[in-house]
Amino acid sequence: MVDFDILIIGGGIAGAGLGAALAGRRRVLLVEAEDQCGRHATGRSAAFWLESYGGPAVIPLSRASHDFLAGHGWLRTRGAIHLARAYVFDSLPALERLDRAALEARIPGLRFAWQHGRDEPSCADIDVAALHAHYLAELRRGGGQVRTAAGLVAAVWDGKTWIATLAEGARVTASILVNAAGAWADPVAKIAAVAPLGITPKRRTMVQLRVGQNGLRHLPLVADADGGFYFKGEGDRSIWLSPHDETDSAPCDAAAEEIDVATAIARFEQVVDWPVEAVERRWAGLRSFAPDRIPVYGFDRAQPGFFWCVGQGGFGIQTAPAASALAAALLLGDQPALDPMPFDPARFG
Ligand SMILES: Cc1cc2nc3c(=O)[nH]c(=O)nc-3n(C[C@H](O)[C@H](O)[C@H](O)COP(=O)(O)OP(=O)(O)OC[C@H]3O[C@@H](n4cnc5c(N)ncnc54)[C@H](O)[C@@H]3O)c2cc1C
Repeated sequence: MVDFDILIIGGGIAGAGLGAALAGRRRVLLVEAEDQCGRHATGRSAAFWLESYGGPAVIPLSRASHDFLAGHGWLRTRGAIHLARAYVFDSLPALERLDRAALEARIPGLRFAWQHGRDEPSCADIDVAALHAHYLAELRRGGGQVRTAAGLVAAVWDGKTWIATLAEGARVTASILVNAAGAWADPVAKIAAVAPLGITPKRRTMVQLRVGQNGLRHLPLVADADGGFYFKGEGDRSIWLSPHDETDSAPCDAAAEEIDVATAIARFEQVVDWPVEAVERRWAGLRSFAPDRIPVYGFDRAQPGFFWCVGQGGFGIQTAPAASALAAALLLGDQPALDPMPFDPARFG
């Protein structure tokens, strides 16, 4: 008999969320290469839920995740303001328009160039650590196992069963292998002799700045409609800022590059007149995208024992509840609540 029904590779939000949704229904083992789950993209996010983000395929996942997150108390409403110099809001038609006077009232010290805005009051901070810990706890409560420092190094399909070798030589067998390896999605496919989909990791930088301005803790998320930056309040005089970078990267332990930190600050200084006093923290993580920037949930076309749960881009946290439920339904043969077609790996031919 096989050891497990489902072997999940990767202990970030994607693997943990799916594991929680499957626990109690199948025998699940989740393996994580690091000595702790959540070390990579999941532990480095900007932690917000923004309904308008991600495009038409992603928005239903974000919407369908909202009540689960809010119901557990893991959302704290912050609001978002989309800013523009010239009027460029065709993609946000449903959001209320903010004129210059309204923008000045919400963002003190806003430079004159920024004349146009849109209001997205439902934007919220997500308690990512609580969500991720909940998923791992649910997985274990349902009888599933989690092994850390147990990266997948080999996987052989004998026609019915996966024989997987983990770091330090441990062997396990499973009927289905789930690829939830984030930036390592394509390398994990190659380990299993499955054709990669072209999942590309892209580095995104975050900077925590101390600035000469008070009262910032609850500042809305301020996002450039042209995609040059976003920032949100962190402490009374500090913000989290990103230059919205997307630099192709090999899968790795990403770190913030000096040039991206400098770019972030230069762009920020063109938005508000708050003096930058110090860079308190900097970090970077890898957001991984399929070629069409839509996540991938489903069985591989050529290898039916291999399931893709990858390409969560910059929305893997805010979509996790609905995406996990969708992926679990596909794995269990249940009727999914959302249309799985946009996410089908078969779209890559
Ligand atoms: C700076 C930044 C800001 C972001 N902001 C937001 C935001 O505000 N809201 C939002 O919703 N999303 C945001 N995201 C995106 C979100 O963080 C990701 O979409 C999500 O965390 C992806 O989760 P994951 O589980 O797929 O990947 P990861 O969390 O990277 O997990 C994959 C895991 O697989 C493991 N692994 C790899 N290879 C193997 C192997 N061979 N064997 C075993 N394990 C392996 C890795 O060690 C890793 O822990 C942001 C991302 C970044 C980087």
